[in-house]
Amino acid sequence: MAVATEREYLLFINGESSEASGGELKELTEPATGEPLAKVAMATEADIDRAVEAARAALGGDWGRTAPTERSRLLHALADALVANRKELAELEVRNVGKAISSVKAELNQAVENFRFYASAIGSIGGRSNPLGGSLLFYSLKEPVGVAGQIVPWNYPLMMTTWKLAPALAAGCTVVLKPDSQTPLSALRMAELATEVGFPPGAINVVPGPGTTVGRHLVQHPGVDKIAFTGSTETGAQIMRDASDGIKRLTLELGGKSPNIIFADADLADAIPSSAWSIYYSAGQSCEARSRILVEQSLYDDFVAKFSEAAASLKVGDPLENETQVGSLISPEHRDRVHGYVETGRGEGAEVTAGGELPRDGKGAFYPPTVLAGVNQEMTVAQEEIFGPVVTISAFADEKDAIRQANAVRYGLMATVWTGDPARGHRLARRIKAGTVGINMPFTAFPGIPFGGYKQSGFGRELGLETLELYLETKSVIVSTSPKPFNPFGL
Ligand code: NAD
Repeated sequence: MAVATEREYLLFINGESSEASGGELKELTEPATGEPLAKVAMATEADIDRAVEAARAALGGDWGRTAPTERSRLLHALADALVANRKELAELEVRNVGKAISSVKAELNQAVENFRFYASAIGSIGGRSNPLGGSLLFYSLKEPVGVAGQIVPWNYPLMMTTWKLAPALAAGCTVVLKPDSQTPLSALRMAELATEVGFPPGAINVVPGPGTTVGRHLVQHPGVDKIAFTGSTETGAQIMRDASDGIKRLTLELGGKSPNIIFADADLADAIPSSAWSIYYSAGQSCEARSRILVEQSLYDDFVAKFSEAAASLKVGDPLENETQVGSLISPEHRDRVHGYVETGRGEGAEVTAGGELPRDGKGAFYPPTVLAGVNQEMTVAQEEIFGPVVTISAFADEKDAIRQANAVRYGLMATVWTGDPARGHRLARRIKAGTVGINMPFTAFPGIPFGGYKQSGFGRELGLETLELYLETKSVIVSTSPKPFNPFGL
């Protein structure tokens, strides 16, 4: 135990650890204890320049010459290294983010499967060919977009890093990845492991640093061809503006305020515990958290009582304990922001039927699973992403009203429908504006299944075969097989 404090974490550029040019070392604090955790080098704009240069050199050098079969082997080797180092990686992530180890273990498994999925998916990359009529023949080539700048948030640092790295590397791109300054440990460790298993220098560079300076510099850098960003909708809008000058390729995975719709004919023995998981997993700090429960009117009172009881029964505490279901939030500041929303909800007339109070013991950034009942979709707490263990519950009259309320936010990332009527489930799946719809099933993200947003939840997809396309250019080659010249001007 206590792996993280035993060393300083430097930047990872061109296959090796590297001090930051400004010499800044940020002191990280463990969210669950408030104790010092590790010191991490913070990149400057000059370090981003170095990382981009290394990534460009690798693109035109060793990595660019690596055959697809070898890229596949390396991705499998990195998956194996994650498995071999899973204890260390899990502890790093738990202590850095504060989330429950049971969640982190599941995320780590998914990260491994994600590398394996893209290792296999490399075989699907290919152009097509067609005779065009007459003597013309066409074929297309798939080529890597180039250097990918990837920016990830603090809520799933390890898993978001693998979501980003795997398809980019599979497509043959090189990467400069900027983790959040608060949560860079697992990404830095993964870059070291990648080098140990044989990824050439420059293929993967990891440069933690502040978003508004170093992150922006990466987005605007002329040596970067594509930006893949996961984070808030507001930052996504800024990145779109910044990326527009260079006409950069862009993938944006942004915020959510996803509905969880419970019809009166649903199997409550499944819907209640699964709905509790859908919001309180990762202490609600999930883009796809189903943070708005919509319940059919006839079931409403019964549901609120049973769900609130389930929320209050969850085990909140030491994230390193296997039995813990809800760990700490990322920081005391974020916890206070979450509590501020609960106060706003109270002020707007919501009834707090579980949680809603700041813990008396100030140690660690814990917040209890909270239920705000009697909410309508016009309230702030129904419209804004709270990003904590807080769910709103609203009643709906009928199917049409359920769809109206489900779509009444600017986001469209995810939705879950609980019903005993399969046809109704499929009807709603078509009418709800969201990138993923689950029917009688709480889970959201599987390697191989495209994940991403409608509306202001962003565009582009992760985790799927579609993602590879976002890291590839298509080049059309047209060739004449005729022995005669074309001479179009008749000269
Ligand atoms: P954030 O937008 O503040 O920061 C995300 C990352 O962007 C960080 O690494 C940050 O340093 C960097 N950044 C900030 N400003 C930047 C700028 N101007 N230019 C370049 N980089 C910049 O988001 P956050 O608060 O860290 O994360 C939570 C948000 O992420 C939530 O809105 C959540 O819904 C979203 N999220 C979305 C998904 C998804 O797949 N759709 C997944 C996880 C999280």
